[in-house]
Amino acid sequence: MESTLKQYFGFSKFRPYQKEIVETILQGKDCLVVMATGSGKSLCYQVPPLISKKTAVVISPLISLMQDQVMALKQRGIGAEYLSSAQNDQNAYTNAERGRYNILYMTPEKACMLPNSFWSRLLDSGICLLAVDEAHCISEWGHNFRVEYKQLDKLRDVLSNVPFVGLTATATEKVRDDIIKSLKMQFPHVTIGSFDRQNLFYSCKSFDRGSVFLNALVAEISTFVDKTESTIIYCTTVKDVEEIFETLKKSRVHAGMYHGQMSNKAREDCHRSFIRDEFYVMVATIAFGMGIDKPDIRHVIHYGCPKSLESYYQESGRCGRDGIPSFCRLYYTRSDFAKADFYCAEARTADQRKAVMDSLAAAQRYCMLTTCRRKYLLEYFGEKYSSSSCGTCDNCTSSKKEIDMSRDAFLLLACIHSCGGHWGLNIPVDVLRGSRAKRILDAHFDKLPFHGLGKDLSANWWKALASQLFSLDYLVETFNDKYKTVRVGPKGIQFLNSCNPDYQPPLYLILTPELAGDDASRDATGDGIVNKLGQLEFDGLSQTEDELYKMLLEERMKLARGHGTAPYALCGDQTLRKIALTRPSTRARLANIDGVNQHFLKTYGDRLLQIIRHLSQELGLVLDAEPIAEFPTPPSKVATIHKNKRLTPAKFEAWKMWQEDGLPAQKIANHPGRAAPIKVDTVLEYILEAGREGCSIDWSRLCLEVGLTQESFNNIQEAMSKVGNKLKPIKNELPEEVSYNQIKVCLLMLETGISSEVIASTHQQGCKVDNSEKGSLPSQIEAAQSNTASLLDSVDHQMKVDITRNNNLLGEFEDAVSRLPVENADPNQPGAAADDLSCSRKRQKLDEPQAVQSVAMEATEDSVLDWLKNFKDGVRF
Ligand SMILES: [Zn+2]
Repeated sequence: MESTLKQYFGFSKFRPYQKEIVETILQGKDCLVVMATGSGKSLCYQVPPLISKKTAVVISPLISLMQDQVMALKQRGIGAEYLSSAQNDQNAYTNAERGRYNILYMTPEKACMLPNSFWSRLLDSGICLLAVDEAHCISEWGHNFRVEYKQLDKLRDVLSNVPFVGLTATATEKVRDDIIKSLKMQFPHVTIGSFDRQNLFYSCKSFDRGSVFLNALVAEISTFVDKTESTIIYCTTVKDVEEIFETLKKSRVHAGMYHGQMSNKAREDCHRSFIRDEFYVMVATIAFGMGIDKPDIRHVIHYGCPKSLESYYQESGRCGRDGIPSFCRLYYTRSDFAKADFYCAEARTADQRKAVMDSLAAAQRYCMLTTCRRKYLLEYFGEKYSSSSCGTCDNCTSSKKEIDMSRDAFLLLACIHSCGGHWGLNIPVDVLRGSRAKRILDAHFDKLPFHGLGKDLSANWWKALASQLFSLDYLVETFNDKYKTVRVGPKGIQFLNSCNPDYQPPLYLILTPELAGDDASRDATGDGIVNKLGQLEFDGLSQTEDELYKMLLEERMKLARGHGTAPYALCGDQTLRKIALTRPSTRARLANIDGVNQHFLKTYGDRLLQIIRHLSQELGLVLDAEPIAEFPTPPSKVATIHKNKRLTPAKFEAWKMWQEDGLPAQKIANHPGRAAPIKVDTVLEYILEAGREGCSIDWSRLCLEVGLTQESFNNIQEAMSKVGNKLKPIKNELPEEVSYNQIKVCLLMLETGISSEVIASTHQQGCKVDNSEKGSLPSQIEAAQSNTASLLDSVDHQMKVDITRNNNLLGEFEDAVSRLPVENADPNQPGAAADDLSCSRKRQKLDEPQAVQSVAMEATEDSVLDWLKNFKDGVRF
């Protein structure tokens, strides 16, 4: 079985679940496979026909998808064809009946229309399975119900002894039951893989429609195009597709467009050009890409909130199917959430209507989330995610500073309440900002005591605050036929009532970029994170190897064009990266690389070896290099953030050997791969420079290696306070045994904000503190949690006692948290775990308003004025 896998697919090992499913199918049993996109579902039905030498029939919803898959299979030397209205070759039918194809694709319509004589002839030739791809389309509970799928049960009678295989990437329990029932499966073997797409980075951002945002978006996309990274932009309407397409065109970004109002031919042409990398950007409605087979899409951008979390998961899941880090970004406006009626129009029953409403509400919640997005997504699909922070979503990587915004929240809530709850958000915000517009004067809102009290903050700032109050259910939105109104919900009323002139319960909210008003840190599309992400790179290649990789990408493109096929169909990006890393000189070595199959070797092997030899020579790289580190497939996390572009290859190599391979500086200096040994001090110099450039450093290990103790750290700091930060004067101030290397490490730690506690933990406990990317984050979080549980308990207790008289608790709490053993300043790392812990504790407090047992008082305008006197001396928070 493994030899078949290597021969046709080039892999030496099956991925999780695949082998077990293939074996079950070969035993003739029905299977239901629920696995995330990119986890290798299709291999489960592609291998059995190659082993049993019988045809596999695959029902697939889209013609373009079938064409892609047939093209890719042919590149592997597998006999494949499709039957649909688009198939003009009549021989295809005859060949199919005679069992000439390993894999035969067809649309559900075609499958139901084929005469029984076709099936009985094919049965005589041999059928090993009938697979139904995108099987959730069978269920009315699914988000993509297709009537034709419902009729597939007819085939069961014709193909009574053939195993049926249902495959889908998204299915709740209800949908799973529906698939089993509709396909009349007999005691199926059910496999549910993880929904966690570890190589995807998730982020969300609200935006304002208009040319400013569009231009910024286009500028961002053109940087992806420069890097030849494929991007899909999903829009909710055809109008948006056309607008973005035009903006891209004006900026000379070559893109394709895809929506339901285009002709079939125009759509197909666009689709083909996109998968062949003739352009890198596709602007589309969700009509594009169900099951799209292009594995190297690096960015999926949603321009507007999708109609359900299921469809978001599926559309964003088209990103990074090859396991290389890729990015899913969702831009939403509040008006997206008011489209429930529009989506409900298709619902035929009350149940369906409720399903649509619930799905949209889940998508809305995902947009507004301030906690880990991955955790929310996975738990929505019923998968437990034990950590509270994944480290690879915007909420887990951005700093989550929380501040007490009780004063402003109070103002906004009270103003909305006083306006009677009959308006949208604009009127109360205009009142706070002191507007004298006619409708405000007509309603006498200029007489309200809050009129003008919030004029120093922008309307958008107030709306951003409202967003957070919505997500906490302090504010509630009601949709009417034409407009929506905002009112204060029961939790908000409780908050208003708990205020009195002497006391205001704190309300800690996350300081989002909009609330921070920190325009400098925000790029045009809204946040600074985007730029940071651009530097996330797949680890493992040195700078020169990366150059080689890019050249190989170009060569692959030329080969693919010459053969009229898509570059990815020749071999995947991962395979090319491995080639760049090892630079094989012989066919045997090339064949050894994961992803190189026999057909590829036969067709392109010699040409590719020639190219590798030529380019490696040009770049001064040796052939047949042993990879220094095991290449991660798939990467267990989005790779290390490093800006190695500014490091020379020698420096980057030294850092990689030290940090990732765990070699001591001494060994690196005398490494046999080096032409001549270099000084240990030079190696340390290189590592420090890498640290300065943003590469992660295991500080505990480094301190241990140079012998930096807590005592010398303190002494160096003291010396600096006397003589400044020049090396020699510091050295002169200190005892002889303090080395230059120790001083350098200490200086960089201070420069980059690393706490000297990393030394204490290492030297006192004698344990290795691994804060490299390879460390197991969840286990470190667990350890941090158990270490700090008792401390937090006592803090929690203190909190309950003090909460009614001390509204400056956060300071105390943060004090307590700062005493926790935070070992790393890297925001993705364990330090952030402790931080996250503190955030979740703070939130817990918000969720328990009943803990605040102060005198209940109805908020009146007078009482508000009384209360506001507390702030007259300019104390705002
Ligand atoms: Zn996360």
